[in-house]
Amino acid sequence: MTGLVYKSTGSFYTVKTEDHSVYECRIKGKFRIKGIKSTNPIAVGDVVDFELDQTTDETIGQIHTIHDRKNYIIRKSVNLSKQTHIIAANIDVVFLLITINNPPTTTSFIDRFLVTAEAYGIETVLVFNKIDTYDETMKEEQLYLQYIYSEIGYQCLQVSAQEGIGIAALKEQMLGKVSMFSGHSGVGKSTLVNALEPHLNLKTKTISEQSMQGQHTTTFAEMYDLSFDAKIIDTPGIKGFGIVDMEKEEVSDYFPEFFKLKSECKFNNCLHKEEPHCAVKKALEENKIAWSRYNSYLKILEGDDEHYRQDIYND
Ligand code: GDP
Ligand code: ZN
Repeated sequence: MTGLVYKSTGSFYTVKTEDHSVYECRIKGKFRIKGIKSTNPIAVGDVVDFELDQTTDETIGQIHTIHDRKNYIIRKSVNLSKQTHIIAANIDVVFLLITINNPPTTTSFIDRFLVTAEAYGIETVLVFNKIDTYDETMKEEQLYLQYIYSEIGYQCLQVSAQEGIGIAALKEQMLGKVSMFSGHSGVGKSTLVNALEPHLNLKTKTISEQSMQGQHTTTFAEMYDLSFDAKIIDTPGIKGFGIVDMEKEEVSDYFPEFFKLKSECKFNNCLHKEEPHCAVKKALEENKIAWSRYNSYLKILEGDDEHYRQDIYND
């Protein structure tokens, strides 16, 4: 049988088949996935093949095969530095919640998030929340950000989770897909999910309220079916993905507007800093690339990664 992993506790996996039957599965024997050194071989969102455990009841199974993933996100273990934990797999779209104020979301945070999502191969939609609270200045800032990001290919939505504005458009984006919601604590993730599906109590809030600081807490994601044709993966206490390990030369590949110009730079390993005849620098000077994007790029190159990880994981 084939099914989708909805929940994992580390030893048991809740698997749902297409006819909506639910099975509790264990992994058969030793199970390693090539190329990934992780504490968990199977994650929420994985498609697996399993067989029923004949000796017990009809809802217990053993997973023997995992299907290829289209993408997955990992979290580096804080203590065991070489180990990673796969948070979720096969994510169709991530909605990054942004608020101009309360809390402010910086372009630096947005850009780091987007770079990582690009590196993971995950589509991101920017969701500006709390638009009911924006004054004229905040509206201007929001429109400016929307302009920057839609110009380079990211879809932007304006919503108010509290007032129910823009929810229909968001639902439309979620149809037939597996979605995740990210963003700083306090941007309105729980409120938004509640607006989409009342009575669905996600962990996002409860866990981030507790301090996970300094603890080696393994957080498990969980997938939910919504009442319209959509699935959500809930990842407690995670507001970003961290920065994937990447080479300096690779970073600009994940800035779509830089990547487009790359072939026009004189040097094919151009870092777009001090090199002569750099198409990215030229576009920047002609205001075809946003300075905020370029500054974020430089910050990532300088690599204050550690600080960033702390920021994300001690939500
Ligand atoms: P989370 O930490 O991302 O899950 O954020 P919450 O959903 O808990 O929201 C944080 C606070 O912002 C709560 O007090 C919400 O009532 C408030 N909030 C969320 N969305 C909106 C919105 O669209 N408009 C307004 N005015 N407040 C909102
Ligand atoms: Zn260049």
